[in-house]
Amino acid sequence: MRIELVNTGDELLLGDTINTNAAWLGQQIAALGLVVSRHLVVSDGAVIKEAMAEAASRSDVVLVSGGLGPTNDDLTRDSIAELLGLPMELDERLKAQLEAFFAKRNRAMSSSNLRQAMVPRGALVMDNPFGTAPGLYFPAELSHARGWNTHFFLMPGPPRELKPMMETHVEPRLRALLPDGASRTIRYFKVTGLGESDIVERVEKKLEAVPDLILGYCIRQGDVDVRLSGQPGPVAQGEAIVREHLGEHIVSTDRRLIEQVVVQTLAERGQWLATAESCTGGFLASRITDVSGSSGVFGHGFVTYANAAKQQHLGVPADWIEQHGAVSEPVAQAMAEGALRVSAADHALALTGIAGPSGGSDAKPVGTVFIGLASQGAETVVKRFFYPGTRDRFKLLASQAALDMLRRRLMGLPL
Ligand code: AMP
Ligand code: MG
Repeated sequence: MRIELVNTGDELLLGDTINTNAAWLGQQIAALGLVVSRHLVVSDGAVIKEAMAEAASRSDVVLVSGGLGPTNDDLTRDSIAELLGLPMELDERLKAQLEAFFAKRNRAMSSSNLRQAMVPRGALVMDNPFGTAPGLYFPAELSHARGWNTHFFLMPGPPRELKPMMETHVEPRLRALLPDGASRTIRYFKVTGLGESDIVERVEKKLEAVPDLILGYCIRQGDVDVRLSGQPGPVAQGEAIVREHLGEHIVSTDRRLIEQVVVQTLAERGQWLATAESCTGGFLASRITDVSGSSGVFGHGFVTYANAAKQQHLGVPADWIEQHGAVSEPVAQAMAEGALRVSAADHALALTGIAGPSGGSDAKPVGTVFIGLASQGAETVVKRFFYPGTRDRFKLLASQAALDMLRRRLMGLPL
C-alpha cells in the first residue's frame, strides 16, 4: 500500500513550526508495517489542490494535515471538494456540535466557523474532541471519477488534535484496508537507565532474527521507547526477548512515563514522597506534579539552592558542607534524610550537583550529581551520576535518575 503525506501551512515552510506531524505520522505508519513513500510540504493556498492531485496520482492513501480551520487561508476542505468535484453540504450534526463548543466556552460563534460544518458530499466526518476542525475521510470510490483509487484522510494541523484523530479514526481504517491488518498488534516498552546503544547491543540482533517482527525505537529524552509490531505470534516472541534482556529497565508497557508509574505506585500503597533539590531547582517536583493525583502522594518539595537553605530547612550540618562540599555524597544523604524527617514522608529524594557551565573541578567535573534516596525503615542510598551538557538536559537526566532510583526501590529491585 503506497502512502503519501501532504502537510500544509506557511509556518512549516517559513521554519516557524517544525513539521513534527510528518515525523510522528511516519512512526505511526511504520508501526502498522507500512512506510510513507513521500512527504510534500506546501503553503496555504491553491497549491494544496495540486499537491493532493499529485500525491493521489501515485498512491493508495493520502494523509493531509492542516488547513481545516475557520479562516480564509484554510483551504484544504474547499480544495478537495473542487478536486473530486463534490458539492459542499451543511452537516447539521457538526453545526450543532460547533454551537455547543462555543456555548460551553461562553464565546460567540462567528459565521466563519460555520465553514467547518460544511462537508463535501460523501465524505465521512472524523470527530475532533480537542478543537473545532473536524477531520474528513474520503473513501477511494470518491476519487474514481478522477481515475484514481485513492483514500484521502484530512486532519487538523495542531498535533494535539491530529494525534488522537489518527489513532482513533485513521489507523483503524488503514488496518481494515490491509489484508492482515485487523490482527496486527503493537507493544511499547518504555526503557530507562540504558542508552540507545546499550539497548541495541542487548536486543537488536535477537529481535531482527524474529521473522515478520517490526521493530522501532523512539529515543526520548531520558528514556527510549522500544516498539514491536506485527502479528501476535512474532510480537509475543519479541516481547519475551525484550523482557529477558531489558527486564528491570522496563518502566511501563502502556506508554506511561516514569513519573506516572512512580506516583501511581505510591498512591496504590498510600505512601508519601518528599523532594529536596539543589541543582535541579524544583524540576523533579515539577515532573511529579505534572501527574494527576500527585497531591495524594506528594506534600513537600524543598528547593534548597544555597548552603544556608540546606542547613536551615533540612538540617544539613554546616561542617559537612565545609568538609565535603555542597556537591557530595554526605550532603546528598543529609538532604534526603532531612527532607524525610521534616516531611514525615515515606520516601525522600535529594539531588545536589553541578549543572555548569562553571563550577566544575577535576574531582567533580560539570555534570556530576549525587542523588540520595531515604526511605522509612530502609538504608539511605546515595548514587553518583555524570550528565555533562546543557543545564536543561542535566536537569532532565538527573530527575530521571532520581525517579528511577525510587521506582527501583518501590519495585524491590537492586539500587
Ligand atoms: P492549521 O490546521 O493549518 O490551521 O494548523 C494550525 C497550527 O497547527 C499551526 O499554527 C501549527 O502550530 C500547527 N501545525 C500545523 N501543521 C503542523 C505540522 N505539520 N507539524 C507541527 N505542527 C503543525
Ligand atoms: Mg494553517
